[in-house]
Amino acid sequence: MQRTLIKDAFKKTNTVFLKGWVHETRDLKKVRFLILKDKSGRIQVTGIDGKTNPETFELLDNLNRESVVQVTGALKKCEQAPSGEELIPDSIEIIAEAKNPLPIDASDYSKTELPLRLDNRFLDLHSVRTQAIFKIQSTIGAEFLNYFIKKGFTYAHPPSIISASSEGGTELFKAKYFEKEVFLAQSPQLYKQMIACSMENMVTITPVWRAEKHNTTRHLNECRQMDIEMAFTDSKTVLEEMGKAIQHIVKQVIEKNAEELEVLKLKLKIPKTKYLTFTETKKLLEENGVKILENDLTGEAEKKLNELFPNTITFVTDWPMKGKPFYIMPKNEDPNAELSEGFDAIYKGMEISSGGQRIHIPELLEKRLEANDLNPKDFTPYIDSFRFGAPPHAGWSIGIERFTQVLLEMSNIREVCMFPRDRDRIMP
Ligand code: ATP
Ligand code: MG
Repeated sequence: MQRTLIKDAFKKTNTVFLKGWVHETRDLKKVRFLILKDKSGRIQVTGIDGKTNPETFELLDNLNRESVVQVTGALKKCEQAPSGEELIPDSIEIIAEAKNPLPIDASDYSKTELPLRLDNRFLDLHSVRTQAIFKIQSTIGAEFLNYFIKKGFTYAHPPSIISASSEGGTELFKAKYFEKEVFLAQSPQLYKQMIACSMENMVTITPVWRAEKHNTTRHLNECRQMDIEMAFTDSKTVLEEMGKAIQHIVKQVIEKNAEELEVLKLKLKIPKTKYLTFTETKKLLEENGVKILENDLTGEAEKKLNELFPNTITFVTDWPMKGKPFYIMPKNEDPNAELSEGFDAIYKGMEISSGGQRIHIPELLEKRLEANDLNPKDFTPYIDSFRFGAPPHAGWSIGIERFTQVLLEMSNIREVCMFPRDRDRIMP
């Protein structure tokens, strides 16, 4: 017999064959219940003493939580069952027994703390709450790609092994590569630019590694970025694209993940957008009693912006040159400008993205590298790639875990990374 998914079983009148996991069992002596779950839902399986065959009735009292079982039987109306129907089993067979006790509680009311859940992520992934998070993250990634692919962007795949720092500043992981020393990419930046300067508009979701030693609730040492890069464009255009893309993603999550949002007890609203220059932001925050750094926003400042503009993606533009990487274009392409064409996007009290127009002029790039105490000689292949017909271009990067964390209002980014890599954790 062919396996039926639980959600489809409810439509059937004949015998069905289900495979799934034991969510829980209850023994009322004369009646025994099994709540069976698979990827599509849950169903109550009811055994009745005297009616159900004795072997099956006996087994209903001996099922460990999270064991894999197969059940055949027919549906019957049952007012008390959560779905209005229950399955009367003909037979139950254990396919893979789960050891008892489980190392963590994977039930709906689990109070197991995050570190222990992460140690046992394979089992934590059985829980409805954890599954809800990653089903939503799946929509986020897919709809991000959909939005831009529909617009004709090329979905491209930059390398993860690089021979030199792509950004300067942030720390890199070293690796051995045959006789050479290489690094894990801290961003796809330079490759995105080369693709944009030839194929015009590109989109990617790609892993990056940051060797910073910090251990915070918003940073991972391995994360994935949702990136775009566009040619013949400026910072304003790509920033407007980000607003529209995020609104599209949130709308899709609201539509496609209603069940998951309910599990997480979240009501989402499509965010508004707001544009402020860095100078305006600084003034506004100071008026509200929050001091910011000369070239950067603090965590406190990001939180304040959310208080001032709830449910809004705030784009902070015209960022000081000193607070942006060397490849960000000075304001209005003026080599002496103090401000830049770079921006950050703040949503629900946290940075979700940085971006801006890039420098496509080799001489200006050399100048900016020097101003950042970097040696242009170390960047020769990168600079040279702009000597053969490079149009003005701009782009940005949103961390998918950071975005999921912010959207789902999770206090720790590790909740929304399936297998997090941080200072201490490389297992499982
Ligand atoms: P932050 O200031 O929050 O540390 P950043 O400015 O160093 O981030 P960018 O280089 O601008 O980060 O990276 C682009 C985006 O990638 C960030 O806005 C964020 O969404 C995400 N991101 C960056 N670093 C991390 C990290 N260590 N862990 C998770 N996500 C990250
Ligand atoms: Mg940033």
